[in-house]
Amino acid sequence: MLVFILISICKANTFEVNEAYAGFQCFAVNDGTDITMFHLRHLKTGAELIAVETDDEEESFDISFKTPSNNSHGTAHALEHILLSYPSRKYDFANGPDVLVLLRLNMWNAHTFPSITNFVFSSGHPQDFNKALRLYMDRVLFSNFGEYPESLKREAWRYELKSLDSQVKYNGIVMSEVKGVHNSVRNEGFFPGTPERFDSGGLPSEIPKLTFSELKKFYSHNYHPSNSKIGLIFKTDLKSRLEIMDEYFSEFSHKQFDKKLPYTTIYGGKESRRGYSQNTDSVGPRTHFTYYMGFETSRTR
Ligand SMILES: [Zn+2]
Repeated sequence: MLVFILISICKANTFEVNEAYAGFQCFAVNDGTDITMFHLRHLKTGAELIAVETDDEEESFDISFKTPSNNSHGTAHALEHILLSYPSRKYDFANGPDVLVLLRLNMWNAHTFPSITNFVFSSGHPQDFNKALRLYMDRVLFSNFGEYPESLKREAWRYELKSLDSQVKYNGIVMSEVKGVHNSVRNEGFFPGTPERFDSGGLPSEIPKLTFSELKKFYSHNYHPSNSKIGLIFKTDLKSRLEIMDEYFSEFSHKQFDKKLPYTTIYGGKESRRGYSQNTDSVGPRTHFTYYMGFETSRTR
């Protein structure tokens, strides 16, 4: 308890256990040698957040949603591409990636894992960080891509005829990415009876079965704060970031999700809450953190 009190005296951003701010409640604090980690939960929706306070100039944010596949149509992968690119409630076409490029971000990206989809960015400029956070919240949680059926054709798959005497071929960004890299045999063999037996990235033979209504249904079911876990590495300000997230999360009601992955046996058969591990051998002055929140997987594309 003495440790917790000292932490909160020394660091303006910090929280004590059971303290609440902007709709989030702190339920655990881990004090490391030179970092402190706060585990918070959004009271209304149950969204979980691990916030790591460091002295690094670079601050980073990521939000992950559990997105298990029902087939190998590449639904999760197509949405990963679509959401940051297509308009949302407050950000039209001109205010998406073009704005992110103009902001002083060190990195912005999205990833499809076997059972989760992840959206991430980092910046050394707090004001630009907060602008990016608003854009991410709006684009991911309040997407209007459903008004743009062409998003499926552009990002996932479409027929293409280059000339009248050529053959009709499939094209599309996701289709192009996965050609030649699919691994259906491995998935089927390693994960029988689980969503992992499907390829979340999509198989070239299956992607043309993806429909626009399937995309919209997958989005409306999975992209909900109650189905999210968030990581935040911060130096300057935790509270303003909580306020921004609460502004968006509070528009949702709590929804029940099973956040466990089907093969978490790699962490002893249960959701791991080991906190962070600090890799002091990392190259250069930056510190590498790994935290486990139950969504951890080993492959990405
Ligand atoms: Zn991709």
